[in-house]
Amino acid sequence: MPETASSVAIAPAKPATSRVKILLVDDSEENLMALEAVLETLGEQLVLARSGTEALRQVLDQDFAAILLDVKMPDMDGFETAQLIRSRKRSRDTPILFLTGYHSDEHLLRGYNLGAADFLFKPFVPEILRSKVSVFIELARNSQIQRQQAEVLRKAEQKFRALLEAAPIAMIISHEDGEIVLVNSRVETVFGQAREDLIGANVRQLLPDWRAPVNHDSPLAVAEAFILREMIALKNDGGFFPAGVNFSPLQTEEGLLITTAIRDITEVKRAEESIRRLNQDLERRVSERTSELRRINEQLRQFAYAISHDLREPLRMVVSYTQLLGQRYRERLDEHAQQIMDFAVEGAMRIDTLLRALHECLQVEGGREQPLELVDCDAVLGRSLENLASTIDAAGAAVTRDPLPSVWCHAVLLARVFQNLVENAIKYRRDGVTPGVHLSAERKSGEWIFSVRDNGIGMEPQHLERIFGLFKRLHGRRYPGAGIGLTLCAKIVEQYGGRIWAESALGQGSTFRFSIPDYEERPR
Ligand code: ADP
Repeated sequence: MPETASSVAIAPAKPATSRVKILLVDDSEENLMALEAVLETLGEQLVLARSGTEALRQVLDQDFAAILLDVKMPDMDGFETAQLIRSRKRSRDTPILFLTGYHSDEHLLRGYNLGAADFLFKPFVPEILRSKVSVFIELARNSQIQRQQAEVLRKAEQKFRALLEAAPIAMIISHEDGEIVLVNSRVETVFGQAREDLIGANVRQLLPDWRAPVNHDSPLAVAEAFILREMIALKNDGGFFPAGVNFSPLQTEEGLLITTAIRDITEVKRAEESIRRLNQDLERRVSERTSELRRINEQLRQFAYAISHDLREPLRMVVSYTQLLGQRYRERLDEHAQQIMDFAVEGAMRIDTLLRALHECLQVEGGREQPLELVDCDAVLGRSLENLASTIDAAGAAVTRDPLPSVWCHAVLLARVFQNLVENAIKYRRDGVTPGVHLSAERKSGEWIFSVRDNGIGMEPQHLERIFGLFKRLHGRRYPGAGIGLTLCAKIVEQYGGRIWAESALGQGSTFRFSIPDYEERPR
């Protein structure tokens, strides 16, 4: 229902918020009713005014989507009213549609000069009237939506700025070329520079190594934001500090914007440096302590080496004198005394064997400290065979060999391995069979596998691991030996990162194999 000039008509069809107001100004009640009747169906708020003065009062405190203004009115005509409406700030841009009965050029000219949006000629054709007013309603509604959107944006921006301000770290928003758009107050504090001076400046002024992240248009952009880069940050007073910097690129309508978050990591760096120094100090102390221990260890080894050698001499005297005693006083000693003397000699001999084993082990240990050399295995084997020449001759053994490679080790220790293995191959020969020994080497998975094959008595497979243990012997008293040769071989090859093993079957001969890694350069 339309209301009187001082009140507003509310159409029930639409919610109040989405409705706009239309001011209808005419001194004729009849005309107003006619206009109302036509426009009511639009569902907007129709406000009626019966004079120019009343119309001016309405535009004082309300916004209208359009004003339909009768030209011919007593007191103040439509044109005068329009002039006053235009002179007020609030209603300066409100579209005015003049209502007139005359098609006069003078009217039209004056009206358009006053900024008329259109002319409506009486008598009105309802459809034309409605459609013309509808256009202005639509315009008003659109600008209302735009105003609301602008308000939403303004609030969002306000929130964003508040968040930026509240951030505990310095944050700079810039274009891709580094031109600063926005900074928070932490930037002012950290860099000692006023915000006004920074807006429009280049971010490289603060971070000379700054560069826009490269992956801003790919999914990697998210990952990029987590990468902390270290840069030097320059302060306004000429000072600088180490900074941890993150970039977060954001594609906006204005183009790419980059948020650069900057943390002063002076304390972190200081802590890192002191940890590094502590570690260095620790390493130095560990290395000093290690060489001290090595030195003591070597002294002990040399001492034990000398003792194990020197003790054998008096021990031999004990054996000789005990045996001499036995021979000289044979008639005066009974059988029991003879037996006791035999036990004494046997015990002393066992001690001698132990001392010899200890001495040889210490010798191998001592060799370990020497730098590795590239050893020509052919030459080394040649020397080992020379040392064994009388043994080979005495047994009538046939020793054959394939060409052997060069490997990183110690010549003296490798010679010991060859000598022990060839000596065993001849010692554990089969009765009635000419002993045959063959030496060869093949390269496999980065190491050289050496083989010493014989046609001797062989061993039962279940003993093949045991024989490398200290003093472990399978063939008791029939063959001389102390059971330390293979232990020494294992100790030697293992110190080069190699292994030793045997393949055999009883009466089928044996093959001893050992490996030594094949390094191109001297291993450390
Ligand atoms: P030793 O020969 O002084 O007894 P080793 O440590 O050299 O000590 O050998 C340990 C044992 O392994 C030997 O006692 C022997 O029983 C067995 N053995 C070593 N080499 C061979 C071989 N070529 N053929 C058969 N048995 C062997």
